[in-house]
Amino acid sequence: AAALEELKQRACESVDLNAARLGALSRDIWSRPELAYAEHQAHDTLTRFFSGEDLPGAAWAVQPRYKLGTAFRADWGTAAPQCPLRIAFLCEYDALPGLGHACGHNLIAEVGAGAALALKAALETLAEPTPVQVTVLGTPAEEQGGGKIDLIKAGAFDGLDVVFMAHPSQENAAYLPDVAEHDVTVKYYGKASHAAAYPWEGVNALDAAVLAYNNLSVLRQQMKPSWRVHGVIKNGGVKPNIIPSYTELEFYLRAPSMKELSVLTEKVENCFKSAALATGCKVEIKGGENDYYNVLPNKSLQQVYKENGKKLGIEFISEDAILNGLSGSTDFGNVTFVVPGLHPYFYIGSDALNHTEQYTEAAGSQTAQFYALRTAKALAMTALDVIFKPGLLEEVRKDFTEMKLKEEGQINP
Ligand SMILES: [Zn+2]
Ligand SMILES: [Zn+2]
Repeated sequence: AAALEELKQRACESVDLNAARLGALSRDIWSRPELAYAEHQAHDTLTRFFSGEDLPGAAWAVQPRYKLGTAFRADWGTAAPQCPLRIAFLCEYDALPGLGHACGHNLIAEVGAGAALALKAALETLAEPTPVQVTVLGTPAEEQGGGKIDLIKAGAFDGLDVVFMAHPSQENAAYLPDVAEHDVTVKYYGKASHAAAYPWEGVNALDAAVLAYNNLSVLRQQMKPSWRVHGVIKNGGVKPNIIPSYTELEFYLRAPSMKELSVLTEKVENCFKSAALATGCKVEIKGGENDYYNVLPNKSLQQVYKENGKKLGIEFISEDAILNGLSGSTDFGNVTFVVPGLHPYFYIGSDALNHTEQYTEAAGSQTAQFYALRTAKALAMTALDVIFKPGLLEEVRKDFTEMKLKEEGQINP
């Protein structure tokens, strides 16, 4: 146990030692925001970072453009004969249209990189090499598309044992119940006609869009408080004197589990279809390619993360606040269905809300550095517990299997 505490100490020292280069990495990504699947500069910055000869210790094996154009992978492993335990840290680095890094994904990349360097540094102090592989996965397109889901499908998570990342927020929480999400695009096809001379010759696609919107508004009274339906009319017609022949809506649907999400999806699709029937339009409903799953909790990982965090002075919100906490959706949810994972949230020294200009500013500030580096330490310490604390890995796997079994019957293939 004393040896484990010693290793955690080494990990924390590594984060402090690398503080300047981690801050520069974060700042670099922050100052050149790129959208989902187009994070080329961030990809290059991160792969250059892990290829850097000035990094302490042995070199990382870096794979640029790993299975996706802007994904990457970096591995380091002690040369041990046995099948190693594989620990991975995830880096996100996509930004938001018009807002830059308003979700602070530059800090996610920094925390993932910092924690990976720290875990490696701690393991490198061991006289006897432990069979552990440390992996950094660069996972693009979290805000849109779901890069992690693409990477799961491509096998990037195969063989990993435990996966870590941390997301900036307004508070510190080892877990928040991120919900499942399904996106739909709805297209109504009608028939154009002169709106004054021969309106009866037309089939009004705008009427269908408006009825659909109103159907959803009526549905809301019977929706569970935890469900979310939100959308926009992307195309509402061309000119007032033409009966609109084409309209398009985009909606996001969210619910706490995949089972509830499929119930909600059916109700919402009926709203879209009935609007088509009422107006005589044709409707086309197209679901997004990647559904985001809800994030499964892992009590053992969360517990250990909290213990480590508290030692570093992190103050966590209460369990009640977690249960009542509202949250978004993340493609990390899908990850928690294939490998045990931890996705804590961390305060960055600002009360600004994610996806605002104020948060962009906070995510690039010097103030945020203290909190990001502290989070990197807590993640590395937790990974060390998973490796060395007797029985913990088995507990983590048990939690994963139990939660998954509980949810599995709920997923529509
Ligand atoms: Zn976001
Ligand atoms: Zn985010």
